[in-house]
Amino acid sequence: MSEVQRNHPPKSLLQSGKIRTADVVVVGGGIAGKACALGLAQMGLQTLEIAPDLEQTVPAPSGPQLGQRIYAFSSGTQKLLAHLQIWDAIDHTRMQAVRDMRIYGDRGEKNDQLHLSAFEAGTPQLAWIGESNVIEHTLDQASRFQNKLERIADAVEKIEFDADGNTLHLRSGGIVRAQLIIAADGANSPIRSELGITTSEESYSQSAVVANWLCTYPHLDTAFQWFLPGGDIIAMLPLPEKQVSMVWSTSPEHAAELLKLDQTQWLDQFSTIANGAISKQLGELTLNSVPAAFPLRKIRAQRFIGPELFPRVVLIGDAAHVMHPLAGQGLNLGLRDVAVLLNILGKRESFRSPSDRVLLRRYERQRQGDTSALLWVTDRLKKLFSASSNTERQLRNWGLGLVNKSHFMKQRLIERALGEIDFE
Ligand SMILES: Cc1cc2nc3c(=O)[nH]c(=O)nc-3n(C[C@H](O)[C@H](O)[C@H](O)COP(=O)(O)OP(=O)(O)OC[C@H]3O[C@@H](n4cnc5c(N)ncnc54)[C@H](O)[C@@H]3O)c2cc1C
Repeated sequence: MSEVQRNHPPKSLLQSGKIRTADVVVVGGGIAGKACALGLAQMGLQTLEIAPDLEQTVPAPSGPQLGQRIYAFSSGTQKLLAHLQIWDAIDHTRMQAVRDMRIYGDRGEKNDQLHLSAFEAGTPQLAWIGESNVIEHTLDQASRFQNKLERIADAVEKIEFDADGNTLHLRSGGIVRAQLIIAADGANSPIRSELGITTSEESYSQSAVVANWLCTYPHLDTAFQWFLPGGDIIAMLPLPEKQVSMVWSTSPEHAAELLKLDQTQWLDQFSTIANGAISKQLGELTLNSVPAAFPLRKIRAQRFIGPELFPRVVLIGDAAHVMHPLAGQGLNLGLRDVAVLLNILGKRESFRSPSDRVLLRRYERQRQGDTSALLWVTDRLKKLFSASSNTERQLRNWGLGLVNKSHFMKQRLIERALGEIDFE
């Protein structure tokens, strides 16, 4: 996208019928965009979703090998998907409930660990682990049957704002008019940049290496996470059929080396790192996907709605915030944006249009606290476990043991991880 202007489209064009119109345009075809577009259409708003990757619907994943993009989904996300009437349609044989989380410090001492248990917290599970494609496929299926929702495989190149609405110019030459634009266009959000919404950004100088493994020991529905000396973090998340999904956050140089390892070299790694704890917990691991690496950074947009000059725009998902994956919460936070927006628009007073500035301000106010708190906690944890001084090392390991002994603190942590959402 290259330009933002404040011009009204010529009357001749409007009258020619060449311009498509909608109440809302959702720009972005990731999970946040797809969920938001479906929810808005279910509310009765004429919705257009635009993204280059909407050309084909995501096929239903099948076969024993799981996809590369695996996410932890919170209870809040489950609730949103149930609200969108797709949770029951998801292929649950490809989803794994997490009933325990075990987090280990980097001194290798027995007490430096935190155990969170769904049973102790009185909740059926702490999270779900599953493929992105399972969710995307189900969202695609539901969207096909939603007559208020139309999808366009295209990219937005230019936006014009005027007193009555927004005009979007597409790469194909198409033109769309809408009252409200939802920017779900990802971490590098072209809409965010074009509106001049500034961000606070920080590179973690780390990449996450992800891969799926078959393990010989049962994972017992447990998500494991090891903090290692030097700042590396390894998570092993349980998957169906004795499989685990690895997320190893490490320096970009080490990530590049890891991507070159063969099966035997990987086994050597697992038998030595964290004093061999990974092999002890999960047995022998066999690679079951092609490993991939993703650079890690933190981004927070200063505003989650368009500035006064461009008032009818809302930012959701990674367009508004990006965080380290150590807590597995990035997408869950983005889906809480969707839930809050649907709540606010669904309950709007009859005299307010969906793009009413008062409603958008309500959205921004509600999202700022949750986003700042989660970004802060994740960032602090990441930095505390990367620090090399002895004091910080003792503090973080002692902290894990201390929290482990406090039922109250564990309960608060679990509440955060569940990320509850209320639909009224
Ligand atoms: C290693 C790793 C592990 C993670 N694990 C977890 C986890 O366990 N749990 C969790 O909750 N989160 C996790 N995350 C975070 C999660 O991946 C992201 O938060 C999520 O994918 C963001 O979704 P989104 O829909 O906001 O954006 P995206 O998926 O990035 O979608 C952006 C969309 O915008 C479209 N677009 C861009 N520009 C334009 C344009 N000009 N016009 C039209 N369309 C455009 C793109 O084509 C795309 O469709 C992880 C992240 C990483 C890196």
